[in-house]
Amino acid sequence: MSVFVHQIAIPNPYFESPSNVFVIQNPHSPTVLIDTGIGTEESLALLRAGLSACHCSVQDISVVLLTHKHIDHCGLARSIQDESGAAVYVHSDDWADVTLFEERYEHVSRLYLEAMHRWGIPHEIITQMAHFRARFAGLGRSVPTAHKLADGQTLRFGELEFRVVHTPGHTQGSACFLLGETLFTGDHLLPTYTSNVGATDVTSAGHLGKFLHSLHKILALPNVESLEIYPGHGRPWKNPRPRIEKIFQHHHERTERILTLLHDGQAHTAFEIALTLFGKMREYHVLLGAGEVYAHLEELERAGRVRQAEPHRFQIV
Ligand SMILES: [Zn+2]
Ligand SMILES: [Zn+2]
Repeated sequence: MSVFVHQIAIPNPYFESPSNVFVIQNPHSPTVLIDTGIGTEESLALLRAGLSACHCSVQDISVVLLTHKHIDHCGLARSIQDESGAAVYVHSDDWADVTLFEERYEHVSRLYLEAMHRWGIPHEIITQMAHFRARFAGLGRSVPTAHKLADGQTLRFGELEFRVVHTPGHTQGSACFLLGETLFTGDHLLPTYTSNVGATDVTSAGHLGKFLHSLHKILALPNVESLEIYPGHGRPWKNPRPRIEKIFQHHHERTERILTLLHDGQAHTAFEIALTLFGKMREYHVLLGAGEVYAHLEELERAGRVRQAEPHRFQIV
């Protein structure tokens, strides 16, 4: 079976890294898109140009598989659907934020405010962050008819057969899609930097434990060394094992570093620890840094190695 996978990298002015859209074509199958890019006119124009290089157009797209609910991955799903009638799929745990993106925006913004208090971010920075988040409101649109996916589910479109691998961690509903020996990983597994864990989904908790478990799930896939990885950002590569081992090592070292910092015997917030680890953080890096440290503290608390001396201040046990 001949399957063509084309990569279209779509930059945006809000996040550093361009988001990948993958176009999957097979002569006997409908055209499938993995992710969409952010919901702006510029991004839609870049997608159109990329599709025309693959000799197709938005109208030809029959299926959109979303790796997760973030706007730089699903922002154009509704526009594509309006134009092509494509069926849109997303894992059930990210489904509400995709189907009701506009309706839930305020609710999710409130959850972010609560999370930023939990992470110990100072008030003046919380206010700045609230303004920053307000800019995202128009960058996605609700897709009320999106279908819910479940772990292990098989999706067949003509000759194309995808297996859904639920990989919670980066978001609760993050999913990878396995097509033969090709694995589309969204933000769960990236080639150069580690996906943020802790700050990028405030609708649930315990992200770090889930994320590491989800990486083990990838390692348990058949013929894992032969897999070609197609990530949500950056270039595809073969064999995920060395990269996954490096990520395990990275998180282990970070945990140890946090424990060392807590050996001063004082109680610290996630934000204070993030400042020591990362220095002064700009814009949304404050969220990413503090949220990720908090995810580590949550795991350490669960393991009985730290405790909250007072709400949101952690101390070594
Ligand atoms: Zn993401
Ligand atoms: Zn991303």
